[in-house]
Amino acid sequence: MESFTYSLCTKDKVPIAVSCLCKDGKTTECIERLNSLKEYDFGEYKSEYTIDYRLHTIIDGCMSDIKEDIICIGASVGVDDAEGRTGGIFGSCNNGASSATESVFFENGMVFGVKPGKGAFAIEEEKEKAENIINFFADEFDGSYEKSITLYNKLCENGNIFILMTDGSGEGSYGIAADRKNIVTVAETAYKGIERTDYKGFKRIGIMGGTFDPIHNGHLIAAQTVCDKLKLDIVVFMPTGNTSYKNKKFVTSGDMRFAMTSIAVESNERFSTSSMETEFDGISYTADTMEKFRRFCDYDAEIYFIVGADVLKDMTCWRNFRKLISLCGFAAVTRPGYPSVDRNKYTELFENDGSEIKFIEVPALDISSSYIRKAVKDGLSVKYLLPDSVEEYIKVHHLYEDNKKARNESELDRILNLIN
Ligand code: ATP
Ligand code: MG
Repeated sequence: MESFTYSLCTKDKVPIAVSCLCKDGKTTECIERLNSLKEYDFGEYKSEYTIDYRLHTIIDGCMSDIKEDIICIGASVGVDDAEGRTGGIFGSCNNGASSATESVFFENGMVFGVKPGKGAFAIEEEKEKAENIINFFADEFDGSYEKSITLYNKLCENGNIFILMTDGSGEGSYGIAADRKNIVTVAETAYKGIERTDYKGFKRIGIMGGTFDPIHNGHLIAAQTVCDKLKLDIVVFMPTGNTSYKNKKFVTSGDMRFAMTSIAVESNERFSTSSMETEFDGISYTADTMEKFRRFCDYDAEIYFIVGADVLKDMTCWRNFRKLISLCGFAAVTRPGYPSVDRNKYTELFENDGSEIKFIEVPALDISSSYIRKAVKDGLSVKYLLPDSVEEYIKVHHLYEDNKKARNESELDRILNLIN
């Protein structure tokens, strides 16, 4: 048995987070099926029950021919107009639970718990060994975000495979979907729905590419400075997709890096994010991404790809570098700790291909994501290095903590499975 958590927005921008227990080796197939929901219109709904029902139907629908591979699947959905701003969950284990009746029951070495409109879990465990979970669920769990996290931690402590879906209960709340490796809030999934995908009307566009693991103030200041100096209409932050996995480096999941980036830029109307690379299942090459990106822009839009001095020197080795510079210009920014580059050499290189490169001095902030990851791991403060909201996200998701290395490893396995 294996577990996974996956999130997406439907065509009409309804965020859905799904957790699933499936037979070994079936994760990729399940995710492929779920991906079809991106083309789905969630549509009109009259009450929260309708939302539950609709959710159940669409997930059931896309999984219908692989049902025997699924042990249990559930989801949490965010619907802004509904009372409490959240839709429902459903837990289903073959013919067992649904979200309709409150119950805790035991079947095939598993414990299932369902509270309608609040949450559901499934864990592979004997009844006796899951008593603390069952008691908490029955007596205290109310679907709130706080209690959901407590329940999640209890499930983790148990050590066995599990999934959890909650609805966030209450006004302005969104639920979560989780398994041991991954916890996704419907609220952060919503970023996938509000993401701008059409860049028509913008004549001067900056693309800030990066791993953003995590995004920090060095990135933000660099982007803002380029935006001002080159008079850009918009800067699009684009977290990288699967490129880094080639080096077997541990990188936080694309969804999480995308969420952190979206949270960091949301208050700046000139900034926006694109999940074009993180949503792409294969290995991403910048030249291909830019070619795709151009299709969403005016044909005469000027695009500048923003890079720091450290990246610029490696860039000429990127795959299809010449195609890349035919698609966009570059804005090379200074970065403390990296020597300034030979401007003439690069200017000539770009001009020879009819492209251009601008060199831009940005206020020196000696901050790197590697430093932040290490500081978190060592228990040092990262305050003022990155936005408070991103710091909060890192805490809630326990990113970069030492004992979470294993989690990144399994996440890596999942991604590698997807791309192989
Ligand atoms: P890591 O330490 O994991 O490599 P990083 O801090 O270098 O992370 P990246 O996501 O690799 O961040 O960088 C994205 C882009 O932002 C790159 O072009 C990089 O040169 C630039 N950049 C990162 N930090 C700064 C900074 N402090 N000042 C200017 N540019 C920066
Ligand atoms: Mg870097």
